[in-house]
Amino acid sequence: SSSEELMSTSKIMQACDRPVNGVMIHFTTGSRQKKRRPPAAGFSAPTPIQAQSWPIAMQGRDIVAIAKTGSGKTLGYLIPAFMHLQRIRNDSRMGPTILVLSPTRELATQIQDEAVKFGRSSRISCTCLYGGAPKGPQLRDLERGADIVVATPGRLNDILEMRRISLRQVSYLVLDEADRMLDMGFEPQIRKIVKEIPTKRQTLMYTATWPKGVRKIAADLLVNPAQVNIGNVD
Ligand code: ADP
Ligand code: MG
Repeated sequence: SSSEELMSTSKIMQACDRPVNGVMIHFTTGSRQKKRRPPAAGFSAPTPIQAQSWPIAMQGRDIVAIAKTGSGKTLGYLIPAFMHLQRIRNDSRMGPTILVLSPTRELATQIQDEAVKFGRSSRISCTCLYGGAPKGPQLRDLERGADIVVATPGRLNDILEMRRISLRQVSYLVLDEADRMLDMGFEPQIRKIVKEIPTKRQTLMYTATWPKGVRKIAADLLVNPAQVNIGNVD
């Protein structure tokens, strides 16, 4: 039943505190555990966006989350992504299973850093594609294979057009800072990229604001999303 499937936040935290499903994030709830083993992340509890995103994302549902910068969105979608990878582990050399779209190089590399830090113990590989840097090294990283690709829409679209990446294995798509990507004029690239991804997928969209353009792209790309609001909505 769906209530059995729905994992409570505390269960996820417990799962994250031990290498359950191969995923190891040390969120520590009890002081006893804290003494025995300091939490690797140094976090004592999930942030509100994480507490709300995790159970919904783990059900396989689409999510549109409206939350400000600094609310902990990255682990909000990365931890369910890691768990998704435990269920669906494709040959990463054939293309990523998880795709995260991000507006800028800086944000994309921050997301990659977090994916590498928390995914290392589960041998999850992650690579980053962004403009303003030579394509060669990025293409070589891709050839080695990555479970997770974090990319800016412009560079990913270039690499798609070169046919140097396949998105046919992607089954978990994240649009991070969607409003900013639209402000930067990335909508055509985002739509081209999503056309390459099978429709049988889970899509998570994170945005700080909720204007008409973001609503439209959410309506087009997400299926019956659960809406999560943290703080004030513009
Ligand atoms: P956002 O993407 O919403 O701007 P980030 O995911 O970049 O936020 O997280 C902001 C900061 O909060 C980062 O330094 C991150 O390491 C930290 N952080 C993430 N989750 C937690 C948590 N559960 N408790 C405390 N700090 C956290
Ligand atoms: Mg972020």
